Amino acid sequence: MSTLVIEDLRASVAGRAILDGVSLTIASGEVHAVMGPNGSGKSTLSHVLLGRPGYQVTGGRVTLDGEDMLALPTWQRAQAGLFLGMQYPIEVPGVGLAEALAESFRAGGRDAAPVAATVADEARRVGLDSRLLERSLNADLSGGERKRNETVQLAVLRPKFAVLDEIDSGLDVDALRAVARRVEAATTEFDLGVLAITHYTRLLQELRCDRVHVLSRGRIVRSGGPELADELEHTGYAEWAEEDPAVAGAEPVADPFADPFADPVSRPLG
Ligand code: ADP
Ligand code: MG
Repeated sequence: MSTLVIEDLRASVAGRAILDGVSLTIASGEVHAVMGPNGSGKSTLSHVLLGRPGYQVTGGRVTLDGEDMLALPTWQRAQAGLFLGMQYPIEVPGVGLAEALAESFRAGGRDAAPVAATVADEARRVGLDSRLLERSLNADLSGGERKRNETVQLAVLRPKFAVLDEIDSGLDVDALRAVARRVEAATTEFDLGVLAITHYTRLLQELRCDRVHVLSRGRIVRSGGPELADELEHTGYAEWAEEDPAVAGAEPVADPFADPFADPVSRPLG
């Protein structure tokens, strides 16, 4: 049983304060959904948790079983059991998926021999075409394929906690169900704790969440049970957007539940 504790986390990007005191505690096996308007700081939270360069922590603490994550470089946070599924997974030319995962196993002193077979199994579970596994990481993959690829990495690495930044974006209904089910299964198979950033309750139909939090202007302004997600799907974030001139003035925020299958380039992503 592990615990990820985020306490009064504050961070800025390019000299601008974005996170304004975020506190969250997640235990093994729990799923916490973080929802909120575009620009509220959801992706910033995910980047800060994993130590992306360019994001300055200006206050607060993040611990995994008492170990200070903020003091560690990204790869050591990953070895400690943190995983990030990125909103926009990047291409890594020249590096194959199985190779990268095997290297991670070796860095952690785990036996890398079964990795290739596990990758193939996990790709099947989320419906990722096995021919894509031979390419460089994410090279020429569609948005949806990248999200399935992130899920394969998660399932093979078996971290303690996964931060999933819009793992549902760009997925069609069948892929969404497969990915959500895979993550849900992980919460019992290896007691994965999840922080799932999403705009859609559809993800949460298969991935059952314990808590829902609303992030607005870098703070958690409301927390509740799964019913809060349903409420938000009806009400949107108007209540909080009004307080936030930057968000209220931003064009695409009008419908935070816009068609998830629209072209990702034209779709306002949060
Ligand atoms: P969300 O994921 O909730 O839509 P983000 O965390 O991506 O929001 O962004 C929060 C705010 O921080 C936005 O105003 C965004 O423009 C700003 N921001 C995020 N990353 C950067 C960056 N690398 N450089 C400058 N501004 C950034
Ligand atoms: Mg985002």
